[in-house]
Amino acid sequence: MVGFNHLYIPGPTNVPDRVRRAIDIPMEDMRAPDFPQFVSPLLEDLKKIFKTEQGRVYVFPGSGTGGWEAALSNTLSPGDKVLASRFGQFSKLWAYMCERLGLNVEVVDCEWGEGVPVQTYADILAKDTNHEIKAVLTCHNETATGVASDIGEVRKALDDNNHPALLFVDGVSSIASMDFRMDEWGVDCAVTGSQKGFMLPTGLAIIAVSQKALEAGKTAQLPRCYFDFGWNSMAHEQGYFPYTPATTLLRGLREAVNMLFEEGLENVFARHKRLAEAVRRGVHAWGLELVAKDEKLYSPTVTAIRLPDHVDGKAFIKHAYYQYNLSLGGGLERLAGKVFRIGHLGDVNEIMAQSALAGAEMCLRDFGVEVTPGAGVGAAQEYLRTANAQAAARAAE
Ligand SMILES: *Cc1c(COP(=O)(O)O)cnc(C)c1O
Repeated sequence: MVGFNHLYIPGPTNVPDRVRRAIDIPMEDMRAPDFPQFVSPLLEDLKKIFKTEQGRVYVFPGSGTGGWEAALSNTLSPGDKVLASRFGQFSKLWAYMCERLGLNVEVVDCEWGEGVPVQTYADILAKDTNHEIKAVLTCHNETATGVASDIGEVRKALDDNNHPALLFVDGVSSIASMDFRMDEWGVDCAVTGSQKGFMLPTGLAIIAVSQKALEAGKTAQLPRCYFDFGWNSMAHEQGYFPYTPATTLLRGLREAVNMLFEEGLENVFARHKRLAEAVRRGVHAWGLELVAKDEKLYSPTVTAIRLPDHVDGKAFIKHAYYQYNLSLGGGLERLAGKVFRIGHLGDVNEIMAQSALAGAEMCLRDFGVEVTPGAGVGAAQEYLRTANAQAAARAAE
């Protein structure tokens, strides 16, 4: 196919050229005497992205799913009770992993399109006066449905009930794209991967851990080895790894973190909100509905859009790929065939976001959806012209 593939799935995301070049280097000696001068500042800078001063950051070869396992296996014991909720494919899979690891999972099932059920969590925590629940699981941004939840509210539910459970957050499609406040929200394990907001190839699990979670790890009995925080800490403290680290990805991570700092984290978050709003305006102009049930839940990083009943979503995604060299996200599990998703996270700017809308709009018309040509793109353009001018003015101040 001519030209490049327009990659608007919600991960892996587009890798900026600067990051690609940073990765394209010879192998290096991971026991070199000056390696810690590279590793230690990188681990410190990652803490700024999680907004933690108290916590520690671990970087493992792996992906977000490995980060989930690291969080659970380092802090819990077989049979421990955990509170989880399912409102999309990712929240569902993390709860399932808990079961497979032999934890006792209390699951709150929600409709897909809803967020973390904070009120139900609060009610369950209030009744758990013996503090049997050892950890509370949340998915900050449910990538399957385009739903973002308020983690600060979950912290409040724990605090209001004086409940000591650990608070775990899946931030795989939020961290580095959306504001994340580990210390302020009292998060104990925050999990992400390299291929979403961090704009890198897949291959790293990045996880921030509170002192409280590290303390819990001293008595936690779930088997763990490769992902053991203690074992990794000993090496990390010296600026090394206890195994061969993915040095090229780490060099790429250094560059990606530099880029995030150059733009400014708050500007990065504002850009994601702006692009998401533009995409939603486009969807609205098409007359289509979002999966997210409420405005408060709209995700800054991914938008899941319901297709009209007569459109086969799988054929739609395939058509976008072969006809227009456009990769859109498909519907997962119960949403399969019913929705498409636009990922607008990572290295995405105004015109890139519009190109996703332009391609999707052509596909909609190809599938007989009555959309005025240019309606979605036009709505996004008009919003972005002004919103972007305002952002530029703020940056110049
Ligand atoms: C992508 C994603 C995952 C899975 O991460 P992998 O890197 O694919 O293992 C988990 N949770 C959320 C919210 C995600 O978006």
